[in-house]
Amino acid sequence: MHVRVRYAPSPTGNQHIGGVRTALINYLFARANGGTFVLRLEDTDRSRSSDAYVKNLYDTFKWLGFYWDEGPDVGGPFAPYVQSERFDLYKEHAERLVAMDRAYYCFCDEERLSKLRAAQAESETADQGYDRHCRSIPAAEAAARVAAGEKAVIRLKIPLEGSTRFIDALLGEIEWKNEDISPDPVLLKSDGFPTYHLANVVDDHFMEITHVMRAQEWIPSAPLHMIMYRAFGWEAPELVHLPMVLGQDGHKLSKRHGATAVDEFRKGGYLPEALVNYVSHLGCSYEEGRELFPLADLERLFKIEKLNKAPAVFDYQKLEWYNGQYIRMKSDAQLAALVSPYLVEAGLLGASRDVASDVAPDASVQARVLGAMPLVRERLHFLTDAPGIMRYLFEEPPVPAAEEFIPKKLDKARAAELLAAAGALLPDCDLDNLVSVEERYRAEAARLGAKFGDLMMPLRVAVTGSRMSPPLFESVRLIGVGRAVGRVERALAALRA
Ligand code: GLU
Ligand code: ZN
Repeated sequence: MHVRVRYAPSPTGNQHIGGVRTALINYLFARANGGTFVLRLEDTDRSRSSDAYVKNLYDTFKWLGFYWDEGPDVGGPFAPYVQSERFDLYKEHAERLVAMDRAYYCFCDEERLSKLRAAQAESETADQGYDRHCRSIPAAEAAARVAAGEKAVIRLKIPLEGSTRFIDALLGEIEWKNEDISPDPVLLKSDGFPTYHLANVVDDHFMEITHVMRAQEWIPSAPLHMIMYRAFGWEAPELVHLPMVLGQDGHKLSKRHGATAVDEFRKGGYLPEALVNYVSHLGCSYEEGRELFPLADLERLFKIEKLNKAPAVFDYQKLEWYNGQYIRMKSDAQLAALVSPYLVEAGLLGASRDVASDVAPDASVQARVLGAMPLVRERLHFLTDAPGIMRYLFEEPPVPAAEEFIPKKLDKARAAELLAAAGALLPDCDLDNLVSVEERYRAEAARLGAKFGDLMMPLRVAVTGSRMSPPLFESVRLIGVGRAVGRVERALAALRA
């Protein structure tokens, strides 16, 4: 069997974690089995669908780095892959079900239906949903009314008794009493638009989908889809309902828990590799004792048996950890390219703001960004951290308050003395030999009767603007000794004021 799976989003919102998880599992299953991954746009709700959401869908998956083999934008043998371009097919099949007496025309107008809903809402005992009012209209009479131009929807005949059973490849056998299935759902609306159920089943059949892998919230639809497959005499695809994704509080993951839209993660400085790696683990485990899986490994390792039945909990801290890991794996050049847009956005790479104006700004600035990567890599949890951590490499930092310069147990005068000595030593240092630099500063500390750390701390604060900064002498090398000495002088002036 050639495996064919699909991601079938409705373009009624931006892509979020839940959708990405569904798409990713389908993609991995296809890859692991040498199969085909299809994108189908389920845009039957025309009022809520929009091109902007379709664009967001394409952008998201290009950024994430995995893509469909067939779809509206890449084509394929089962085109069109957009439901709004397949309406004739749905109408034909709804009518086929009517002809087989597995569906029927319903002429109830909105007024009748809303009265029905209101009455049901008031009564505690009344059945919910459509009351099957039109189910008993003789077929010939219904056909004549339709032929005469009367408005009608087509509803599926859910058997009144018995139950519907199917196997979920993950959850096992599922049995629904037919009386618990939504009574006679609409398949085709009076304007000829299909509903989700009809279009989904017809397309999965004609697109030769072998496995439907989707979120667990679709389980209630599965029995009525089964009723349709059986009515048509079609073999149903295998069903796999994926474990839910919850927030830490046990409720379905939503905006209340934090970012859920992929765009928010993207803007928040996450790497797509981290997101993919983390999301692939929502409700699925691959190899014991291992956390980092490049996509190529996931493609090889994925199996339905590795999915969990229990819901997954979305852990933002874990994702942050993954992000740090993937940032660390980048080369200097890759990471420089990734953080540069954030530095530009923060106004740090503009020529006018270049602090080392003695060198051609562009080349020097780029070299400085590149040279800073080994210094900042370990400190970056998100790409968005870069401007804050790196600002002092491109701009004169504000001179911190005097207390910031004063090592523990010392006073302002002593801090100034140590800073002056530390600054005076800078021009004599060979910054290409950091071991010798450290030796000189240790000797200087001994000469002054100070702790090494107490000598370094005021210098660090003066040069970088902060006590917690990337490595000091590497930073001096990047901004230039002249610039560093200037900062020491400014700090001294402030300290002595
Ligand atoms: N259009 C549905 C959705 O938005 C597809 C559900 C399914 O995979 O059957 O998720
Ligand atoms: Zn009716």
